[in-house]
Amino acid sequence: MKKLLLAGGAGFIGSHLVDRLLKRNDLDLLVVVDNLWTGRTENVGHIRDQRLVLVRSEVEHFQSDLKFDEIFHLASPASPPVYMQEPERTVSANLVGAMRLLKLLKKGGRICFASSSEVYGNPLVNPLPETYRGSVDCTGPRSSYDEGKRCTEALLFESNRVRGVDVRVARLFNVYGPRTRADDGRAISNFIANALAGKPIVVHGDGRQTRSWGYVDDIVDGLERLFWLENFNHVGAVNVGNDREISVLEIARYVAGLIPGTTIVHGDLAPQDPTNRCPDLTLCRRILPGWSCKVPYEEGVVRTLRWFEVNGGIAEMRATRAV
Ligand code: UDP
Repeated sequence: MKKLLLAGGAGFIGSHLVDRLLKRNDLDLLVVVDNLWTGRTENVGHIRDQRLVLVRSEVEHFQSDLKFDEIFHLASPASPPVYMQEPERTVSANLVGAMRLLKLLKKGGRICFASSSEVYGNPLVNPLPETYRGSVDCTGPRSSYDEGKRCTEALLFESNRVRGVDVRVARLFNVYGPRTRADDGRAISNFIANALAGKPIVVHGDGRQTRSWGYVDDIVDGLERLFWLENFNHVGAVNVGNDREISVLEIARYVAGLIPGTTIVHGDLAPQDPTNRCPDLTLCRRILPGWSCKVPYEEGVVRTLRWFEVNGGIAEMRATRAV
């Protein structure tokens, strides 16, 4: 039986991965380490499984006498307004977190990392193959996240080269869905939270910038396949995302159409906002045959909206506004 560690397991994507891990019957322990910076205990509050142990700790400082067979590193904020406010903590969670986790890995164990399409920066090619080396400004306001992810990838792939560590890295593209915080700050959750609270949707700039929006169930399905795969002999990151590229304005209009009376206003562009971002999925399809994003945004946004109506804390937001 295996002992597993998931850093960031109370977070949005991490908690969905916890659900998947606990469906496996080859583990007797799943330690979730989370400092609850952007994660919430409610995200795993539905789980009644004695194999799950939740530890509130910074990943960098997590202490244990155990060594783990498989480690999953998802401990990082992903929302630009959040990571831009605490750059040092963002770099540390990713990079120093990975250094700590490598020390907790059993010899012959596997470490899996949720990297990001942000490693490509403001890309000059479209779609983005993993071989594209990126157009990142290491002095810019997104750099703590972008370079934090890049340097963590470097650390992990060098651990593979020098010590033969089994490393799996997924580069995720704009994931959305249930369990995003209403105050997360990213596009789809902001649009839904604002519309439900009776506030206008704020589109940054003209809204023609594009993203490839991946519904969380599809993305976590991709993670499960990549992270669980036996006989994995690829060295390098794998794009995991939706290759249907949609503008921010189209998403805003769609959300507004779902909640009558919602208006759209335009605000300033976010600093160094990438103009486009679409994965080339050639490698992903070769490594994960049969996997694709199956939930179109038209359905995924509705599912997310339904979740927010019940769980999103919107009533509290409304009440706060009324005071
Ligand atoms: N965005 C927006 N309004 C918001 C939040 C985000 O127009 O309330 C835009 C943002 O400027 C970017 C896109 O939506 O162009 C996606 O932003 P998000 O923060 O979700 O993720 P990013 O891809 O920038 O990491």
